[in-house]
Parts: sequence; structure tokens; C-alpha cells
Amino acid sequence: MTSPVASVVIAAAGLGERFIEAGPVARANGQPRPSKILALLAGRPVLAHVLDRFAAVEAVTEVVVAVPEDRVAWAAETFGDALPGGRRLVFVAGGGDRTESVARALGATDGGTELVVIHDAARPLIRPAVIEEALRVAIEHGAAVVGRPVDHTIKNVAGDRRVTQTVPRQTLWMAQTPQVFRREVILQAYARREDVVGAVTDDAQLVEATGQAVMMVLGDATNIKITTPEDLRACEALLAAGWPFER
Ligand code: C5P
Repeated sequence: MTSPVASVVIAAAGLGERFIEAGPVARANGQPRPSKILALLAGRPVLAHVLDRFAAVEAVTEVVVAVPEDRVAWAAETFGDALPGGRRLVFVAGGGDRTESVARALGATDGGTELVVIHDAARPLIRPAVIEEALRVAIEHGAAVVGRPVDHTIKNVAGDRRVTQTVPRQTLWMAQTPQVFRREVILQAYARREDVVGAVTDDAQLVEATGQAVMMVLGDATNIKITTPEDLRACEALLAAGWPFER
């Protein structure tokens, strides 16, 4: 069997409203609005770390990044050379919510790849070995989501903070990204996304709604999603301590 080839879609168009201006933030020229994907992690923008992680995966032939509309040209100029080996790197304007941003980036991928990998730019500490395992599972089953079994006790809580239920956690997993799909699986799910009622918080949810099986792949607890400046500091501390801790 020849190795599959994969397009990567990076959702990086969020404004990061919870990421208040607290840390050293790289700013685009003439663009005063800070953004968490440009926040400096070990001296480099978070997005640069993400691109490095995917560049380390051989199956990846292209990366399409959805960024805020007013940053497309700037991002292309700043990160344009970030992918070695002549691989395609494209920046597109994201949309009003994450699903719309992913839809736009999906539309800009090369239709010839077998797999699509979707990843949040806010997770810079993703290990290439985990990405590769997700690719393998997606080839076999059609859809693979990196995540972790829940190891906290989970409570249902009412508006007045009264606990209404302790939720059995034996079968609960937290979904992270990347989420990897065979191309036809994710295209079909996005084509039907208007049919899904309620909040859509990840891509696999759209795929599940089509009846396609989705498999979980065990990821790392260190695949932190940067939401607040504290998360950025946690990533800094992990890098300083020698992450990825691989043998
Ligand atoms: O805001 P939150 O951290 O939940 O967003 C998850 C990911 O989705 C982030 O990487 C963010 O940049 C991205 N996003 C996007 N387009 C939006 C909103 C969020 O690409 N409109």
C-alpha cells in the first residue's frame, strides 16, 4: 500500500477574546489587534510552532490556514516559507465561527489528497507521532479524533451552582484536535452541516451526524488548547522542561 497523502486545515481565525492582552504579543504591521496565534511561545508565534509540528509529518503535502480576514496577506508574507520540501502553504480568510472558517479552508484544499487533518492553531504542543497515529486510524475507519479519557469527576450544575448530577465518567472522553477524516467523509459532513441542530463544537460532531463511525485516538494531556494567558505560560513551562519528552 502506498502511503496516504494528507491536507491539513488549521483553524486560526478566532479572535481569542478570552486571551486578554497580557503577554508579549507579536503584532502585524499596522494591525493593533493582538491574537493568540501570534502570541510568542518560546520567542516564536504559536502558529509557527503548529506549522513545525505538521511539517514533521511525511504524509502532509499541504497546509491551508484560516486566519482573520485582515491578516491573510500579512500571514502569507510572515509564514510563507514555513513549510520545507516545496509543500503548499495557503492562507485564507476565516469566517464568523470556527465551522465557517474550517469550511472555507476545506474549500481551498487540493482535491487530490486522501485525508484531511483539521487542527486548532491554539494547540501548539501536538506530537507528530500522535498525528501519524490519527492518520493511520482514519485510513482504516474513515474518521479519527485525538482525545483523552476524562480523569476528573464531572458534575451537572444548575444556574445557581447547585449540583444536579454527578455524571458517570467511565465512557467519557475529551475531544482534542487534530481530527482526521477521509476526504469524502468530511466533505459530505460539511455539505450537510446546516442539518445539525445546536452548537457545533468540533468537526467530528458533523461527521457523527452522517452516521459515519468515528474512532478516538489516545493523545497527550500536554496537547493544551491555549485559551487564556495561563495556558500560554503552561506551554512555555512544558517547552522549558523538555517537551515533547520523547525517548
Ligand atoms: O475560540 P476557540 O479557542 O474555541 O477556537 C478554537 C480554534 O478555532 C482556534 O484555533 C481559533 O483560532 C479557531 N477559530 C477560527 N474561526 C473562528 C473562531 C475560532 O478559525 N471564527
